[in-house]
Amino acid sequence: MFKSIDEAIKYIRDNDVKAVDFRFTDLFGVWQHITIASQEVDEETLEVGLGFDGSSIRGWCEIHNSDMSFVPDVTSAFIDPFFRRKTVVFFCDIVDPVTTEKYDRDPRNIAAKAVNYLKQSGIGDTCFVGPEAEFFIFDDVRFDQSQQHGFYFLNSEEGVWNTGFDEGPNLQYKPQFKGGYFPVPPTDKSHELRSEMVEVMEQLGIVVEAHHHEVATAGQAEIDVRFTDLLKQADLMQMYKYVVRNVATRNNKTVTFMAKPIYGDNGNGMHCHQSIWKDGQPLFSGSGYAGLSQEALWYLGGIIKHAKTIAAFTNPTTNSYKRLVPGFEAPNKLAYSSRNRSAAIRIPIVSSPKARRIEVRFPDPTANPYLAFSVMLMAGLDGIENKIDPGDPLDKNIYDLDPVELANIPSMPTSLEESLQALENDHEFMLKGDVFTPDIIEIWADYKRNNEILPLSLRPHPHEFNMYY
Ligand code: GLN
Ligand code: MG
Ligand code: MG
Ligand code: MG
Repeated sequence: MFKSIDEAIKYIRDNDVKAVDFRFTDLFGVWQHITIASQEVDEETLEVGLGFDGSSIRGWCEIHNSDMSFVPDVTSAFIDPFFRRKTVVFFCDIVDPVTTEKYDRDPRNIAAKAVNYLKQSGIGDTCFVGPEAEFFIFDDVRFDQSQQHGFYFLNSEEGVWNTGFDEGPNLQYKPQFKGGYFPVPPTDKSHELRSEMVEVMEQLGIVVEAHHHEVATAGQAEIDVRFTDLLKQADLMQMYKYVVRNVATRNNKTVTFMAKPIYGDNGNGMHCHQSIWKDGQPLFSGSGYAGLSQEALWYLGGIIKHAKTIAAFTNPTTNSYKRLVPGFEAPNKLAYSSRNRSAAIRIPIVSSPKARRIEVRFPDPTANPYLAFSVMLMAGLDGIENKIDPGDPLDKNIYDLDPVELANIPSMPTSLEESLQALENDHEFMLKGDVFTPDIIEIWADYKRNNEILPLSLRPHPHEFNMYY
């Protein structure tokens, strides 16, 4: 929004701006903020930033002394669409106030370093990313241990407490099981709500290409934004989730990006389309399989080779692995194909060389977009640097293969623990250019084990009562 600090200050002074919001994304993808009265903000605040206590941010407490600074990126500014008082928001980088070095556990810094590494490698100068984040819209979520499935999702507009696969009578224009994709209203109950989300996104300068009800029965949605370069796209994904959640909240709805909220129905994916460009030319277009270049095929080889490690960031929750099972359009096998939506990587059929790209289908929207996009780029670049052969494409429905054929195709990890172990065993490719540090890998695995995997494993699950009581 602003080209310089001076321009930002002038805007704040001349436009009755009441407050300035400094934001950053923590390791686990949560957007954090502090609101500063606008009279407290001057050139210096924007230049050197503002101090805060880093020790209270999860995953960041290890820093030797906990003073850290937010330094705003003035080019990233926008007006908050939800705050009643006019507030300019800045994406901030996290800096050590003493050394003025950028913090290596700041996800936005990791994404910036990944893009720098791309440039330094000489392979390209731009990585375009186009994510398709899916989510569910509910009125309410209840927990009832006496019920077979534990959780019930109320979508009153669909007319039922919805477990996703209930077999009650159709109470007026309720989508059939897996029938959300995509009848017009009145079956599509969330068109107006999605439109309201899109309207806010457009006000924020996000280019929305399309939106639709997704396959799952109970209010699953997708809003598709235009591709843009990696760091910008990660910023936009934070804005995207913020808009989706806040528009839902002001309409008395609740949304979740959880990978698999409903047993027996489709989960939420975040397919990530990606391509590399150099000097304004698309590097992924060529005369290989599905119109891909040799570089694109090697990039793909890198993604497949390192997929289990990648999953530690692109599928970062215990729940993520409940989505990666056969039968729900989410991949469980590591294969690529130009048609096949059961493959982990699809090559969309496009006529224009400029649109040539690969679509990585295993990520889900619980991922921290900065880390997810960066780890995929690093794996793809490793593929190009080491000429990693992706093997042959698989143009069959993987869900229908016989066990002998299936055994030859590598699998996605089946648990977060498996992905963390892959991360610990295979991460050299991430350390190039100091993009990720050994420290961040250790913190990530520790945090996930102690705060997510262990607490879940200690708790009796409602379904265990069905099986064992
Ligand atoms: N929801 C599916 C997934 O989990 C994707 C469905 C689609 O976009 N075709 O990835
Ligand atoms: Mg889509
Ligand atoms: Mg989709
Ligand atoms: Mg897709």
